[in-house]
Amino acid sequence: MGLTKRSNINSLALKLRLAINVPRYNVFMNVLITGGLGFIASHTACVLAEAGHQLVLLDNLVNSKRSVLQRLETIIGKPLIFIEGDVRDEACLNALFKTHAIDAVIHFAGLKSVSESSQDPLRYYCNNVGGSIALLQSMKAHGIKKFIFSSSATVYGTPQYLPYDESHPTKPINPYGQTKLQVEEIMRDLAHSDPSWSMIALRYFNPVGAHDSGLIGEDPSGIPNNLTPYLAQVASGQLPFIRVFGDDYETKDGTGERDYIHVMDLAEGHLTALHYVESHTGYCPVNLGTGVAYSVYEVIASFEKAIGRAIERKIEARRAGDLPVYYADPKNANAILGWSATRNLDQMCASAWNFQKTSVSASSTKK
Ligand code: NAD
Ligand code: UDP
Repeated sequence: MGLTKRSNINSLALKLRLAINVPRYNVFMNVLITGGLGFIASHTACVLAEAGHQLVLLDNLVNSKRSVLQRLETIIGKPLIFIEGDVRDEACLNALFKTHAIDAVIHFAGLKSVSESSQDPLRYYCNNVGGSIALLQSMKAHGIKKFIFSSSATVYGTPQYLPYDESHPTKPINPYGQTKLQVEEIMRDLAHSDPSWSMIALRYFNPVGAHDSGLIGEDPSGIPNNLTPYLAQVASGQLPFIRVFGDDYETKDGTGERDYIHVMDLAEGHLTALHYVESHTGYCPVNLGTGVAYSVYEVIASFEKAIGRAIERKIEARRAGDLPVYYADPKNANAILGWSATRNLDQMCASAWNFQKTSVSASSTKK
């Protein structure tokens, strides 16, 4: 099934909406989501589908499993178009853009481990930068110029002031962050070279939590690196205790502080970004964070509230490369996109626990 034409229902709805003068961004778009079965992309797919957009998901399954597709279809209530392929595969992209009349691309596909990126930087540059170049080239060849990119707060590096706003200097301290910054610079150059491109780099802070259904969420392979998936496995008995990486930082309680953002808030941010690229041209980077920093102890306390019992913890040495504290200035997202986060830390932890109980402990989504 292709998207060579919008469905009849969509055309009718579009005509009706235009007839009653609903803002232009309410048109339905055909959207390619790269890395479509991954953590953030799958939640974004739910939000976009619910808003009436038609989706094509592309993923090479390097860090996700096909079973996420069925779960997504259950949530959305209809079949989705899924292509197993790599964003670096030119032939795959050309065939995709020929078959499906894509209006905009949201590019999530990428590798995301900071430590792995230091051990194998070439793999990260090849996948994250090489993949983005291949995608942008193919988009250009097919006249598709609306592009939303998954960037990261790691582009800022050591804080010179907080909160980070989008004008804060960008000086990543690891290869992963460098790959994100390089893609942002390519986007900026592209927008200068051809003002008809419409592009946003969304700089995510710390996405956590899961969809309310408990069917999709964050399910890393092996032992989790990140705080909330690790806590979820301690809570479910798969791991014995949470290791607190340092309690001697100059922060409110000595532990590291981060701007955790509910993945559904983040997903809704992508919907507003899609509206934005529909009706504006140029390039801009936008922070997606809450503007509030929580400590490791505060996250543990919220998780304990979600599960109704205490979680065992052990203080360990600081983790190499960790910053004591950082958080977003989210004002731009509100001013430009009309978006701000609405869900709190307790909702993040409760939904992460619900996903762990419903899907991960019961039967892994990594199948
Ligand atoms: P994820 O690993 O769950 O999702 C990424 C998806 O991309 C996976 O399904 C993977 O199989 C796929 N993929 C990777 N390389 C590919 C390729 N070459 N071709 C096709 N598919 C490919 O990660 P996520 O947490 O959902 O992150 C999504 C994006 O957001 C990534 O680009 C990541 O760098 C960025 N980001 C994530 C975070 C975070 O903390 N989760 C923070 C900031 C930015
Ligand atoms: N952290 C921790 N124990 C863990 C994982 C993380 O104490 O098992 C701390 C980490 O030092 C940081 C915060 O939790 O202060 C968030 O770390 P995470 O890896 O989730 O995200 P990061 O901000 O490093 O991308």
